[in-house]
Amino acid sequence: MIAKVEPLTSARSLRGPFDYALTGEMSAVGVGSVVMVPFARRQVLGVVVELADRSELPPERLATPLRALEADVPPELVRLGLWVGEEYCSTPARGLALVLPPGTGTGAKQRARPRTALTASITDEGRRSLQQEARLGVAQQRVLEALASAPLAAADACRAAGCSHDTLNRLAARGLIALDQVRIRRAPEAAGIGSGRSDGAALTTAQAAAVARIKAALDAEAGDRRLLLHGVTGSGKTEVYLRAVAETLARGRSAIVLVPEIALTPQTVTRFRQRFGEQVAVLHSSLSLGERYDEWDRLRRGDARVCVGPRSAVFAPLTQLGLIVVDEEHDPSYKQDGDPRYDARHVAERRVGLAGAVLLAGSATPRPETRVRLERIEMPERVDGQRLPPVEIAGMAGVSGALHPRTRDALEEVRERGEKAIILLNRRGWSNFLQCGTCGRAWGCPDCDVTLVLHRAAGRMACHHCGHSEPIPGFCPDCGSMSLSRHGTGTEKLEDELASLVAPLPVFRLDSDTAGERSAVTRILSRFEQAESGVLVGTQMVAKGHDFPDVTLGVVLDADSTLRFPDFRSEERTFALVAQLAGRSGRGRRGGRVLVQALDPSARALRLAAAHDSEGFLEGEIARRRALRYPPFGHLIRAVCLSEEAGPEVEAAAALRALIALDDAQILGPAPLFRVQARERSQLVVKAGDRAAAVRAVRHAVEQVSSDRRHKGVAFAVDVDPQ
Ligand code: ADP
Ligand code: ZN
Ligand code: ZN
Repeated sequence: MIAKVEPLTSARSLRGPFDYALTGEMSAVGVGSVVMVPFARRQVLGVVVELADRSELPPERLATPLRALEADVPPELVRLGLWVGEEYCSTPARGLALVLPPGTGTGAKQRARPRTALTASITDEGRRSLQQEARLGVAQQRVLEALASAPLAAADACRAAGCSHDTLNRLAARGLIALDQVRIRRAPEAAGIGSGRSDGAALTTAQAAAVARIKAALDAEAGDRRLLLHGVTGSGKTEVYLRAVAETLARGRSAIVLVPEIALTPQTVTRFRQRFGEQVAVLHSSLSLGERYDEWDRLRRGDARVCVGPRSAVFAPLTQLGLIVVDEEHDPSYKQDGDPRYDARHVAERRVGLAGAVLLAGSATPRPETRVRLERIEMPERVDGQRLPPVEIAGMAGVSGALHPRTRDALEEVRERGEKAIILLNRRGWSNFLQCGTCGRAWGCPDCDVTLVLHRAAGRMACHHCGHSEPIPGFCPDCGSMSLSRHGTGTEKLEDELASLVAPLPVFRLDSDTAGERSAVTRILSRFEQAESGVLVGTQMVAKGHDFPDVTLGVVLDADSTLRFPDFRSEERTFALVAQLAGRSGRGRRGGRVLVQALDPSARALRLAAAHDSEGFLEGEIARRRALRYPPFGHLIRAVCLSEEAGPEVEAAAALRALIALDDAQILGPAPLFRVQARERSQLVVKAGDRAAAVRAVRHAVEQVSSDRRHKGVAFAVDVDPQ
């Protein structure tokens, strides 16, 4: 047999697969096996992507893999990984890296392995000796007693019996205990926050109808099985997902539940764990590598049949897949930042298509592309019959300070009544920038063309693009002036202002500065949940799916700041942000209200969000997209060329442009982008009708230009469906 092996190297230019002969021990290798192979006088890891009867190469030139790793990849995931590599203009190796066991990837090293420990267990003979009170030493007796109920790690057995390892060896020699290397599971800690209020409750009429539709899709033999659960915030979508997963398991199939960046949704994870117990495996980046490896392996072996995780969980190694849920499908975290820049929602569609499974995307604010393409199930009302909270827009023109007088009044009420409020400001740090009051100097990042953001507690000014930071200066280095003024307000400063405004109510801040790790997010959210009253302030993290029944006020500051970005998705983003934050308020008996501060209160996205009119918003948005041929009526591909000095990046972009031959497309650029991480950038945007043809043309052009010596030193970043 011949194995076609794709080496896991990160080079763009190297293209496999390469043939290896499967002989001897290696005969058991199949598609999806991960093998160490001799390659150009080195050893690299590779994935078997195909088996063949014969090779073009003469037998004497065929090497044999050196060994195979313990874990392999299901063949359908090998195909999915290769498809991602192509679909996102990346390489086969980078596509495959996504589907490998954790700790295996490009770079050809295996950094995670199963963990085993020497374990002592009592034998039948041992039990008999214990019962018959045979002649045993005191220590030996204690060991057998300790092991009578369950096996123990050898070290623990010694500790329990207060004996040395020799005692174990003597018992083993007499056949009274067995010492074996046993696989140890590294189980992630269960984060505890919130509990399902719906466990055991009867479904609402809308939920029951949704579940019935999903069951029909699970039982359908063929046809389009992609569903959109369009339900307002608080309509009980999570309960529908839970039932959908239960129905899938009942049919002997497995399920993937994708959630936005998991640090932000500990509640959802907890609810799945509570309902399905050990059948649930969680995959996310803040688990230790060992824990991730073991969770992956439990899925691969079928010990766990439900995988909950962020975008990368779309590659979970489940077989017999029946369902993929995409919770909060509008969330931007479903798109990967680095190469391959895949979109988990698009990959999920591909995967359900290949597996004959059902896709269930849910949101209160679905994207226009999802609304147009998927069959819609509506849940227009909240479960408890509560109305959505009234939303007021407060114009900020002429208002000084970060808070509108109406917002101050509303917060004062929350303080007096001892209630809870959530305040969203999508800007972290103390103030956005520092300027010299005398000469006007502004502090920018030396490597990126952006201003530095002041972080007071850290005593530093930081670049939010590259991580550069420097101490806050005491005077202007240009003119020596000491009068430096701070402009704008970020979450850090807002927290400070609120603390005195709402005292003695506690103020909690949630942004990526306070929530470095997942445990911190859970801690902050559960402190807010458990507090009698208080204010939660933070970036968009505070608007995501949390279910706190007793929040009576929601506030969005600078709600139209997103509209000032020149991006065709900015309307949609703004609408979603306001609608989602509004969804956090008024979920309890006390009701609630929402205030939206904006410079331009007449903005369409804000008006419609205030009216809770997501269908109206979608209609207008879909019409606009159709007219302008934006997704889903056209497809965008962005190619960025980067170089250390100015010039080569523009030449490369121009060369790309010249090579992209497409009938049904418009090519914009080369256009300069602002510098990031000391690299000049030039961009091309391809707007095309035929997605597959455009992807092919761009991939081909990038392959050519990147292997052309004249463009040496230029790096390429291709983004299909940029966000
Ligand atoms: P959504 O995700 O649609 O915003 P959630 O799933 O957070 O809504 O549900 C809102 C609240 O309603 C949760 O506390 C949930 O436990 C509760 N809930 C869901 N379904 C029911 C039901 N059928 N009966 C009573 N409470 C329910
Ligand atoms: Zn100055
Ligand atoms: Zn920078």
